[in-house]
Parts: sequence; structure tokens; C-alpha cells
Amino acid sequence: MSSPAAPAAPTPPADAPPGATPHTCPQCAAPLDADPRFAVWCPRCEWNLVPEHDAATDPTTPAAPATPRERAVAARTEQLYQDLAAGRTASAGRRDWLAAAAVASLVHLVTTALFGWALWLLVTGSTPLRCLGAAALAVVVLLRPRIGRVPRGESVLTRSQAPALYGLADRVAAELGARPVGVIRVDRSFNAGLAVVGLRRHSVLTLGLPLWEALDEQQRIALLGHELAHQVNGDHRRGLWLNAAIGALAHWYDLARPRRHAHWAGFRLLFHVAGLISNAVLHSLAWLLMRTLFLLDRLTARAGHQAEYHADTLAAQAASTEAARGMLKALLLDGAAGTLVSRVRAGHQSRPRTTRRGAADAQPASPASQASKAPQASPADTLWDRLRDHLAGVPPLERERLLRRSARDRAAVDSTHPPTHLRLALLAQRPPLPAAVTTSPAESAAIATELAPHRLRIARSLLAP
Ligand SMILES: [Zn+2]
Ligand SMILES: [Zn+2]
Repeated sequence: MSSPAAPAAPTPPADAPPGATPHTCPQCAAPLDADPRFAVWCPRCEWNLVPEHDAATDPTTPAAPATPRERAVAARTEQLYQDLAAGRTASAGRRDWLAAAAVASLVHLVTTALFGWALWLLVTGSTPLRCLGAAALAVVVLLRPRIGRVPRGESVLTRSQAPALYGLADRVAAELGARPVGVIRVDRSFNAGLAVVGLRRHSVLTLGLPLWEALDEQQRIALLGHELAHQVNGDHRRGLWLNAAIGALAHWYDLARPRRHAHWAGFRLLFHVAGLISNAVLHSLAWLLMRTLFLLDRLTARAGHQAEYHADTLAAQAASTEAARGMLKALLLDGAAGTLVSRVRAGHQSRPRTTRRGAADAQPASPASQASKAPQASPADTLWDRLRDHLAGVPPLERERLLRRSARDRAAVDSTHPPTHLRLALLAQRPPLPAAVTTSPAESAAIATELAPHRLRIARSLLAP
């Protein structure tokens, strides 16, 4: 999660013009509408859009100037948005896909060739060569493409455990012409995602419970719509060939990436030199692998982002444009959600241990509620209600600040999705769509019941020290 927007000191900076007050912008003297709970900023000139403490701690908004690569990626991102907003589709897409597929083939060829060589040594070689073959086979196992596996464990909801949730997901999938989801799991992230795993390409939908709880019914359908649309939005990055190659490259990079080989230092000169040489070889290999990953990213980013925009359109088709935009705006509130969880956790931990025992987590009670003898709900029981209240209380001015800040989000240029402000803008460009899928109150209640054990489990894990 990005760093929360803590209240800024309501004093103007030292270079503020004379006469500036905390309620006047020190840069353009516009009157400021200060809310003590949030950063004070100026919507007219964007003074303090990214407060200093945010910029210092938030890696998404670094103080350092953008690198040439970041500027180039940002320009390409903006160009794609302009093209799509003007109704032009990506023209260079097919050539880039072919190049990406060729790079992926090369990656798979390396693994296959090594496998073939290992087998050949094992079958035809002398005893020492067979040993070499066995070693090569072990390396192949280490380097094999990772295609993922269907998750198990407490985070997974089966179809029999959650018929209403799967039923809703199936209706959304049918609306989009997508396959029914294979497995739904929930985790503690303020996010959601769809992975396609295994040789049989099972879809695994992960719903971050904090995000799910922050959305209204229709926005949840939009979230399901966007994620399930990943099966039909033409995103080849998720195809087996390319996805396995990217996964393998990332894994190879992880194996080769520079580490400190401190254990060489105290050894004799020979070992020291061997260590230096192996480090240099690994360094070069890691560099080459990183460049290849950059190249694949470059080749697939434009079409990948176009597919993401298309997934947003399909989300709007299922849930309505208004709900899809509401869902995207909620994504900007991850910092506010993190702040609330930290605050509840801090309040919980500052309670005496004896008070916390029993219900696992006792409510940080006010004197008034301590006086009453009514049974208290634990923080884990009330976390989600408090989260919803907190996010509903984020004022429009702070939401506007978060939206404009997302436009400066440096990390977004490397991300798999286009920047949120551009996704919102593109949806706003198109004619508004009505909802095709809705939920009845009974269906919503059934889904809430199915998620109840996970709500408590994840709330406890978020509030754990
Ligand atoms: Zn101003
Ligand atoms: Zn997506």
C-alpha cells in the first residue's frame, strides 16, 4: 500500500509570501479549504499536492527527477491514451507481439536445449558424463518455466462453500463471454487479480478483502467484471507461451542477481578470485536477463495497457460505467485504508493484555462504553464497518488530491495497468453504459455470509502485531 495521507502541518513553508496564512495558498494566495484530517493542498496551483513527508517515504512519488526511461514510458502511456480517446487502435501491436513471441521462444529453446543435452548425456555418456547429465537435469528443474498451480488452503473458497459468490461471478463471466472462474480466493490486499495457472489454464480470481469491503454492490460487480474480462480482453501477456517465458526470465534473474558473497572474503586467494569471477559472470548474466525482461515489457506494454482499458470497458458493460468509475476511484483510497487499519491496530495494541484476552481482541472502549455492561464487539468484528465509514468520510477535496497525485505516480509507468486517472478519463470519454448484472438484497446477504469467516480471519491478521 502507498503511504497514508497524514495531516500536514497547517503552516505555510518558509518561503511563503508575506501575509500568507494557513488558509491561504503560499504559492498563489488562493483561499485553502483545510480539513485537519488530511493534507492541506491547493487545487488551483497544486501546491503541496504531494506533501513532503509523502514524497520522502512514498516510493511512487520520488523527489528525484524522472529518468529518461521513465519519461519515455510515460510518453508512450500518454500517447496510447490519446490514440484510444481519439478512437485509434494500436497499429504496431502485431509486430510487437511477434517479436515478443520470438523472445519467449528463445527462452523456452534454452530450457529445451539444456534438457535435451542432459538426456543425451544420461543415455549415451560414460559414468562421469552421466553425472554431468544428472547435474544438467537438476539445473533444468531449477530453470523450468513456472506456470503456477491452483492454490489450496484457508484463503480458497470452494464452489460448495460460496455458491452465491460463484453464482455472481458466473453471471458476470457469462455477460462478458468469458469462461466461469475456476477458483476464488480472498487475501488481505487492497487489490484484486486474475491469474491463469497450470497446464490446463485454471483461472484463479483473488479478491483483496479490504478492497471488496470498500466497494458497494455494483462496484463489486465492476471489480469482478474487470478481472474476469482478463480472459477475453486479448492480453497475450497472460497466454501460456509468453507468461511462462516472463516467469522463467524473472526466476532466472532472481537466481543470478547480484548478492554479497561475503563468505568468500575470509578464504584464501584462490577462492577469493574464483568468487570474484563467478560474481562477475552472474552480474553480466543478471544484466542481460534484466534487459530481456525490459525488452519484453516494452514489446507488450502498449497492447497490454490497451487490453486493460478494454477490461475497464467490459467492467462498465457488466456493472455500468458509473460503477466501474466508482471502483477505479476506490483504488485510490488504498493509503486511507492503510491509515485506518494502522490506527485500529495501534489502538488495539495499546490496550492492556488482560483486556485483550478472551475475545482475542477487545474494542478500544471509550469511558462511556466501559461504563456500560453491554458485550463489546472486538476490533476484528468491527474493522470492516469502521473501514467503510472511514473511506466514506474521505472528503471530495482529498479524493481530488489523490486523483491528481495518481497522475504523477512514477511507479505507474512500470505497472501492468495504465495509470488510474487515465483509466477514469477514458471511461468518461465513452457513452455511459447501464448495468447488465445486478444483485438482489438476498444474494448480497448470502455472499456476505459466505465471506464472514474470511472477514474475521483477515481482520485478525491485519490487526495482529
Ligand atoms: Zn495555490
Ligand atoms: Zn487488469
